[in-house]
Amino acid sequence: MNKRQMKKILPKQKRKINLRQKLSSFVDRISKILYPNNIKCLICGDDLPQKQDIEFCAKCEEKLEYIDNEKCCLRCGAKLIAEEKYCLNCQNNQFDFDMSRAVFVYDGAIKTIIYNLKYGNKPYISNTISYCMARKLKSLNWKVDMVVPVPSSKETLKERGFNQAELIARKLSEIIHVDFENEILQKIKHTEKQANLSGIERRTNLEGAFLVDNKYKAFLKGKTILLIDDVITSGSTISFCAKELKKNGAKAVLVLGFARAFYSIPTQSNLKNVKSFIN
Ligand SMILES: [Zn+2]
Ligand SMILES: [Zn+2]
Repeated sequence: MNKRQMKKILPKQKRKINLRQKLSSFVDRISKILYPNNIKCLICGDDLPQKQDIEFCAKCEEKLEYIDNEKCCLRCGAKLIAEEKYCLNCQNNQFDFDMSRAVFVYDGAIKTIIYNLKYGNKPYISNTISYCMARKLKSLNWKVDMVVPVPSSKETLKERGFNQAELIARKLSEIIHVDFENEILQKIKHTEKQANLSGIERRTNLEGAFLVDNKYKAFLKGKTILLIDDVITSGSTISFCAKELKKNGAKAVLVLGFARAFYSIPTQSNLKNVKSFIN
């Protein structure tokens, strides 16, 4: 019996139920992709004993490289080897954000997590990331007025389908009960990947890339912004974002990333030690 014949035989009521069943199984399938039921460690894939906010098993979490609040550059949050206040990057460059911190060093399993989030079609990973960042935020004791993600260009959004910083920031704002603002800061220029460029190229690459519309000026006035990104590399992106936000009235821009790209930026006085360490 084909579908058309079946339609004729089935009473209207039954057809409605069938449609409803189909719809609910479709919704089920979609929600399973977005939020899988079988809760597994995002790193090793082992079953977790129960549903938890941060989906890492104890074994994997133990191996992750956290950045200590006391052992990082006071400005950009890069992990430091030596007992210095500022990394070489911050000693030699002017940044427009007030302070930046990240939960982890961008390496090993953390790198894989970011990769899976961005390219592995697993947007649900952002949940765990947001909870990790909320925990870090608590330890930092920052007082902020609104959460703003580092924006993506239209081209990147079209290609990837989502902005991972937006996913992270949205959930984080829910956890910490602070307003989420996605429209204020826009990326109006499609830029080369920062990682492929030299320091100077990075600066010019991002010139004029971010924009705050005039209509938000009054809204931003005197506010402390929590700017969110997944990975912080040289600090150029967040600096350009902060510059634009402050130009339009923001009082301060504090940045929180899930990961910080360099293991450590050696300070001048520590360069000799690092060289001998590497060789
Ligand atoms: Zn694990
Ligand atoms: Zn620094």
